[in-house]
This record gives sequence, C-alpha cells and structure tokens, in this order.
Amino acid sequence: MFSKVNSVGLFGLNAFPVTVEASISAGQPSFDIVGMPDVAVQESKARIRAVLGQLGLKLLGGKVTVNLAPASVKKIGSMFDLPITMALMLLGGVVEGSFDDTAFIGELSLDGTLAPVNGALGMVLAAAQNGIKRVFLPIDNAKEASVAEGMEIYGAEHITQITDFLQNGTGLAPEPRYIPSERRYRNFEDFADVMGQYGAKKAIETAAAGSHNLLMLGPPGSGKSMLAKRIPSILPRITFEESIETTQIHSVAGLINPSEPLITSRPFRAVSHTASSVGLVGGGSVPRPGEISLAHNGVLFLDELPEFDRRVLETLRQPLENGEITISRASGSVNYPCDVMMVAAMNPCPCGNFGNPLKKCTCSEKQVSAYLNKISQPVLDRIDIQIEIRPVKYDDLAERKPAESSAAIAERVQRARDIQAERYKGTDIKSNSRITSDIIAEVCNLAPDAREMLKAAFDKLGLSARAYDRILKVSRTCADLDGSADILKSHVSQAISFRSLDRKYWNR
Ligand SMILES: [Zn+2]
Repeated sequence: MFSKVNSVGLFGLNAFPVTVEASISAGQPSFDIVGMPDVAVQESKARIRAVLGQLGLKLLGGKVTVNLAPASVKKIGSMFDLPITMALMLLGGVVEGSFDDTAFIGELSLDGTLAPVNGALGMVLAAAQNGIKRVFLPIDNAKEASVAEGMEIYGAEHITQITDFLQNGTGLAPEPRYIPSERRYRNFEDFADVMGQYGAKKAIETAAAGSHNLLMLGPPGSGKSMLAKRIPSILPRITFEESIETTQIHSVAGLINPSEPLITSRPFRAVSHTASSVGLVGGGSVPRPGEISLAHNGVLFLDELPEFDRRVLETLRQPLENGEITISRASGSVNYPCDVMMVAAMNPCPCGNFGNPLKKCTCSEKQVSAYLNKISQPVLDRIDIQIEIRPVKYDDLAERKPAESSAAIAERVQRARDIQAERYKGTDIKSNSRITSDIIAEVCNLAPDAREMLKAAFDKLGLSARAYDRILKVSRTCADLDGSADILKSHVSQAISFRSLDRKYWNR
C-alpha cells in the first residue's frame, strides 16, 4: 500500500516542493524515514509516534517507510511532521480523497498541537508556483501565509482540526488574505525636533533619496545617533514586492510577529560593534541571514564604526557592493539579498575632539591615525556620502523655530525615488546608488558647466575613477531631489561637498 502528500522544504531562502510518500508492507513493525532527512526530521519519528498514540491510531503496525522526494536534496527542519503524519493517515484510511493540489506544512507537539515553522511565506509562495492551491499549516503561520495571492490557507491549532475538516468539511475556514495598511510614520522620532544641523539633514535626505551609504563623523554629543535614529521617518515607502522579499528573510530567521506578519516599513537595523561576522553577514551550519540581510531594502546602522573588529568590517565589502551575499556550506550554498543603505557613525579620534574647534584633542597624531585607519580605504570607498557633524550652533538653538518635519522631507525623498523607479523600470536597479558603469553616462547627463566643474574637481582633488563615479551618482540624486533631468553645477557642487572627509581626515 502506498500514499503521497505534498509539502515544502526550505534551505536558506530557497523553498522547494517535497513529496512525502509512505508505504507499508508486512513484516516486523518498523518506521523509517529516507530521502536525505537531517537530525530534526529523524526526530519527527518520535513525535509522530506519540501523536498517533494520543489519537488512538494504530498506523505503524507493519514495516512503514516514508520517503521524502526528491531524494537528492537535504531536508532540514521540523516542518515535515504534519505531512508525514497526513501521509500515514491517508495510507491507513483515516482520511480519504485526493490531495494533489494540497500541501501540508508544520511541526507537531507530542499532544498533536501544531507549532509554527520559520519561512512560511516563502514556502507557500513556492507551493503556489508548483501548482498547489490549498495549504494546511499551523495557525500562527496562517496570516503570514495568506499574503500569497490566490492560495487557500487553512491555519489549525491541532491536527484533529485538519482531519475533522478533511472528513466532514467542518471546523476550519480559509484565512482571509492579509493586506496590511501602511504604517509608515508610526513610532519614529521626527526631524522637527532637530534644531540647526542643516548640512547634515540635507546629506541625510540625499542619502535616503538615492539609498546612498552614509558616514557621519563628529565629536561625542554632536547628535550623530540622534540624526541616525530619525532616518526611518524619511525613507521612501516600501513597495509590496520589497515588503515580501524582506518579510521572507525575517521569516526564515524566525522574527515574524504572527499578528502583524508582513514587514510594511523599511527595516532599520542598529548593530552593536560587538557583532561577529556571522551576526553581521550571516552564517551557521544551516546558514541564517545576518543583520545586513535583515536590513534588506532598508538601513543598516553601524554606530562607533572604528570599534568594530576590522575583519568583521571587511566582510561587509562584497555584500555592500553586490547587494547579495552567498554563504557556502557542505550542505549547499545560500543566497541572501542585502540591498541596504549603510549608515555609519564615528568619532574622529579616541578622545573624540580631533578637528573640533571648540575643544582640544588630547590624542597623539599617531593615535588619531591609528583610529582612523581602523576603517580601510576599500570600506570608505563604498560610502558615497561622508559628512562631518558639528555640535549645534548656539544661534540655531536660540532661534527656537520648529525645524522642518520628517513628513515634509519624506515627501521630497519619495518624489526623487519615484523618478528613479521610472528611470530604471525593467532593470534590477532600484536607486541611484546602484547605477552600473555601463549606463552611468546614459543616465547622468551633465550640463556643460557641471561637466567642467567635475573635471576641475577631478584634476584638483586627484579623484580616483571610483570616487568620480560616486560623486556622479550622488549628483544624480541631488538633481532628482530638484526634479531636474540634467545634472546642474549646483548638484555637482553639493555632491563634492559630501565627500570632504577623505581629504580632511584620512588623506591629510
Ligand atoms: Zn582626540
């Protein structure tokens, strides 16, 4: 005798269909699971035995073999408990019918309660692509799974709800499709509270508009963290596709809130300088996404940049450049996207006052150099906008005029991003920071005097080709914020002013 039900496996972000086949033959009672199961899948035997016992079902009376196909792919995790049990129940005639368009996903507790699994949305999307129309899974995964369009999702608390429903058609109802409302400005601190700091705010607006990496350097108390904390309040809206991508990564990491399962605003991940490279870029034997991937489509914030282990910072280079990270393991390699805007903050020296006109730096020249050199040139090269943050001037504080609100800034950022979306339609490019060298000349059309200014800066400042491209991309964003098709002289001048740190601090 033989039975078959559908399920879905997961490795990293990669979800793939799995067919669970069960057969029983005469002989000494035994229960085997084959088809490259890992330890967690092997352990499901004990859980399934317990659940069948609880339900009073004698389905393991002969030689029972369960095969997870395709046998060539490793099966990891506890999501096969439910489909294996369903295959056995089908085999034993406890449930009847055809389940060709149905998939089962879920872990079982010993009493038959269904426990949620990580990566539900990705698994249901993969099921949809493979002709599945109906999915049964744990109730805590149902809302997240319902985001997949056109799928009939049934969330259950206990396995008997599923068997009752399959026998009698009662007890369960399809989960209504979850479409969250936009919650963009919720809980974010506002730029209206930040007096002065006009230059810094302009730089942050530009970074947000083009998704450019940003470095803020300044003495302690100058407001770097205060400014960084407000960046989420001006980021462009996350699109539905981006929301799905980011949610899938958070789901794989087990970071989804079952009642609000979709990530509906761009993530802002603040990472401590004690982070390991695995914590930052991902890893582990079953590779988990790191902070840089959890920040996908949003902001990765690194405070106290020189305090990070230099080797850890170096691991960021490739992912920042490619917008994607590949983690290779014996069991296979996993790709996690990481298209982020990196925001970093740092003091200029150990005491913090190097370059501060108001306080004296007590560090030796050697200490200052050693501190700055913790950030390597290749890492600096990947930061389009680098600005100095000064303590607020007394006059700005005394003014007491309310500063511009985040909502007003966000509106300009959104307009600039809409222009970019239109320009890069049909390509992989989402923002100006990702302009590739083959199209840079085409999309960055300079007005004649802007071209001259850039050439003069190139000669005078001895810019590298890479720095030249970066200034050009930032100029493009300045022009988009201005609603200008051509890049004008004022845009180039602004972009150059966002690159002054290199010369003042690193290349003194
Ligand atoms: Zn100092």
